[in-house]
Amino acid sequence: MWHEEASSTTLDPRDSAAAPHESAGSPSCRLSEIATGHVAKAARLLNLPEEIAMILGQPKNEIIVNFPVKMDSGSYRLFKGYRVQHNDIMGPYKGGLRYCQNLTLDECKGLALAMTWKSALQSIPFGGGMGGVNFDPTQHSKAEIERITRRFCHALANSVGPEYDIPAPDLGTNGQIMAWFMDTYMNTVDALDKNAVRRIVTGKSPSSGGLPGREAATGYGAVQCIVEWARESRVELTGKTAAIQGFGNVGSYTGKILSKLGLSVVAIGDHRGYIYNPEGLNPHKVAEHVKMTGSVVDYQHGRPISREAFFAVDCDILVPAARELQIGQAEAHLIQARVIAEGANGPTYPEADAILAERGITVLPDILVNSGGVTVSYFEWLQNKCAERWDEDEVLSRLASAMRRTYAEVRAFSSDRKIDLRTAAYALGLLRIQTAYADRGIWP
Ligand code: NAD
Repeated sequence: MWHEEASSTTLDPRDSAAAPHESAGSPSCRLSEIATGHVAKAARLLNLPEEIAMILGQPKNEIIVNFPVKMDSGSYRLFKGYRVQHNDIMGPYKGGLRYCQNLTLDECKGLALAMTWKSALQSIPFGGGMGGVNFDPTQHSKAEIERITRRFCHALANSVGPEYDIPAPDLGTNGQIMAWFMDTYMNTVDALDKNAVRRIVTGKSPSSGGLPGREAATGYGAVQCIVEWARESRVELTGKTAAIQGFGNVGSYTGKILSKLGLSVVAIGDHRGYIYNPEGLNPHKVAEHVKMTGSVVDYQHGRPISREAFFAVDCDILVPAARELQIGQAEAHLIQARVIAEGANGPTYPEADAILAERGITVLPDILVNSGGVTVSYFEWLQNKCAERWDEDEVLSRLASAMRRTYAEVRAFSSDRKIDLRTAAYALGLLRIQTAYADRGIWP
């Protein structure tokens, strides 16, 4: 298994006990249904013309590739990869690549749709896409993952491009995987174009043309939302407590930045289990433990707790940063936090949203909270396009102001229309997409 080099590649998604809501049918099916439901609610609010609703109701392209890869043993295995391109009215398709077991086309459809909205909400000139490969990366060596990545890139080559569709890291992928993807793509184009196509992916390591700060960007953006929520709710964050589900890229950076602000992270969980310490867990040390062992379990300063106990933990802030469909009705009744900041995409069922609203628990929605990733991806793309070098202070200060501005816009829209923050975020994104269609018309 490949742990040391890929600290954030820790997932074993369908493992478990840890995903009890799958009884509602295939969870990925529900994900695209749920995302479409959020859009439908926003569309009703805005009286969206029927033809635009029809266009946005389906992705523009759904690509499936099957490709062979040589395993370390010398045998060959066939892998299935996906890329869904939802909409490009605002700019090139943009979205993550997932490496996870049981990845489905439908899951990619739901996530690609959310990306269209996330980019529009942040006023970034990108559309929405999502893809990945259906396999469990924890069961493969680094060399096998490199070959899978290079072969996947090659299989997709005519369907992605630096001005057409730009992948980024997501669940089970990281900067190293983006660097391999970029390198493969660069080596398939004409030599004269090689350096012009670096921006085929974002989320690369800085030495490959990535931005300092990109790795932390999604967590940093999530914390900005928590800070804004605290400011408007007149809550002093120092001394408050947080629980974080998922301790890969998004969860670990959110934890580290929250602890810098003086919060105490009392519970953390991942695909293998949950740990608790009422005195606070050190996110830096837990992240080191994950890097060495692949999980938070067995961290010596935390005692093991059940998944139910994790959701019931007495804390002020809950950050789901693992994967989709984790907060159902049962969890919504257990949660003690005052606010939930959705670092993961689609962690909450609509039925749970209703219970949380009734219980007075604020939900800061995913397309706002985790939009720091795509925002900094856009900066990276611009940096590559202009052959510039941005420094980390510049990246993070531009990210902070983008997050503050978008948070204020969502909050104002929600207050004006007397709607919840999730509907406000979807409606604001939709308003921007609708305006683009109204200006351009539908060709021919
Ligand atoms: P990651 O692979 O780095 O980490 C995922 C974490 O979730 C790991 O700790 C893993 O053990 C845990 N996990 C997986 N399945 C679980 C389960 N069933 N129960 C509990 N924990 C589980 O992934 P990431 O990049 O941090 O992404 C996490 C979430 O954030 C995903 O929903 C992703 O789509 C979303 N997101 C990521 C980014 C980004 O920049 N990486 C940007 C926007 C949104």
